[in-house]
Amino acid sequence: MSEHHVVIIGGGITGLVAAYQLRKLHDAGILPIHCTVIEQDHRLGGKIHTRKTEQYLLELGPDSIYTRKPAGIEFLHELGLTDEIVPANPSGGTFVWHHHRLQPLPPGVNTGVPTDLGAFAKTQLLSMKGKLRALADLVLPFEPYPADIALGKLLRKRLGDEVVDLIASPLLAGIHAGDIDRLSLDATMPMWRTLYEKHRSLIIGALSQKKKVVKRPTIPAQPMFINLKGGLEQLIERTVTQIRDFADLRTETRAMEIIKSNLNYTIKIMEKGATSYLQADAVILATPAFAAAEILSPLGVSVEHLQSIRYASTATISLGYNRAFALPISGSGYLVPRTEGSNLTACTIISNKWSHASKQGNLLIRCYVGRDGQEEALKWDDEHLLKATLEELKESMGIPESPDFVEIKRWMSSMPQYDVGHLDRLRQIDQDLVSFPGIYLAGAAYRGLGIPDCIKDAKRVVEQLEHDLLN
Ligand code: FAD
Repeated sequence: MSEHHVVIIGGGITGLVAAYQLRKLHDAGILPIHCTVIEQDHRLGGKIHTRKTEQYLLELGPDSIYTRKPAGIEFLHELGLTDEIVPANPSGGTFVWHHHRLQPLPPGVNTGVPTDLGAFAKTQLLSMKGKLRALADLVLPFEPYPADIALGKLLRKRLGDEVVDLIASPLLAGIHAGDIDRLSLDATMPMWRTLYEKHRSLIIGALSQKKKVVKRPTIPAQPMFINLKGGLEQLIERTVTQIRDFADLRTETRAMEIIKSNLNYTIKIMEKGATSYLQADAVILATPAFAAAEILSPLGVSVEHLQSIRYASTATISLGYNRAFALPISGSGYLVPRTEGSNLTACTIISNKWSHASKQGNLLIRCYVGRDGQEEALKWDDEHLLKATLEELKESMGIPESPDFVEIKRWMSSMPQYDVGHLDRLRQIDQDLVSFPGIYLAGAAYRGLGIPDCIKDAKRVVEQLEHDLLN
């Protein structure tokens, strides 16, 4: 069998895992493959970006891998990184900034749906009216929603606005930096549709799930969020080590466009300022959707659908203090509802959450700014952004002094928004791609944006590619 040249565009976690999977096919003798990974940046890893200083180990992008989606942790084990795993410290609670006060998030609120009714009744975060409105879900009649709707629409109908604005929306913003009234129920939290349709009530549905979890004591306790001793970039480094002698890894190389040649594809690339061309039997586009749309535009395939996947911008502001402070909260940080008129969307006390991220006795905080529809502050210069952030921290946690260390990282157009109709859009894209065998799309834009989702998606496209090339 002749060797197939597979070009992967995008050297984030998705593209690198795809290369790793191709290597496995090649080494097992299933498919002879020659692989090229092209990445426009000077470094591999995409949004996974760790920065090490003498005092701190900073995550500029993602800071944890969620273990309830097994693809992430399984991949770490496969790479031999098991001994490098660091669990997040037991949280000590999360808080919500509301009416200029930090209030504990009541335990057992899953996407805002209360499952610990005793704690929910006692919370000071919600008004009595807000709590009673949420509990109305127990008695409200079933209303069918046959087509996809916004997650916020279902939650508001069942639980009322207060729970959605103060709990569900800020919790969800942590994942998508999104607007709960635009995000698709079916693409982001399909379990709520399933539970609602089965039980008529979200609370009853959630309680039924809770009972099931309690009934499975054989599952060993596993921390829900993990990192690595060397930061998440260790995952990138280890993956690169595994593919370095298999794939041609070309950084500072940008894919401009793909054109169809007789039997395969020609990719126009710009490498360190010079234009050249690559021939490929198959191409995996592991870039954001808007970049894929641009690259695919000469083929005219799915360009509009890809362009319609909107992106939100966000920034992380890491602040290090080479000394300890008595903070008013002991937990992992706080969330800021969009209704509070704050620039921050959340604040994580990293030194409480991760024991490996700062020296004992230092305080490391990471603030988030920007979410879908609230991106004004990202236009400010660093000085302005820092000043506003410090003022807010002073008010919320009483931190009186300037930090010893500051790192601001802007992530423009970084968070794909799975708007209502997202799954239809994906079906349409898949249908369009049928006429372009050998072109594959994978990554955060499509079937989940967490690191485990991206790893799973990379495996999915390589399985598809294997099937297509062998048949
Ligand atoms: P990317 O990492 O975006 O990689 C795509 C690559 O394609 C980039 O390197 C880009 O330079 C390259 N590229 C684009 N266009 C071209 C072109 N024309 N030619 C060549 N290369 C190109 N997830 C979690 O699981 N846990 C978290 O805690 C978490 N927190 C997050 C916090 C922040 C601030 C952000 C921004 C994201 C967070 N995420 C988190 C989400 C997660 O990090 C990303 O969804 C995931 O890393 C995306 O991986 P990817 O490979 O699909 O895309």
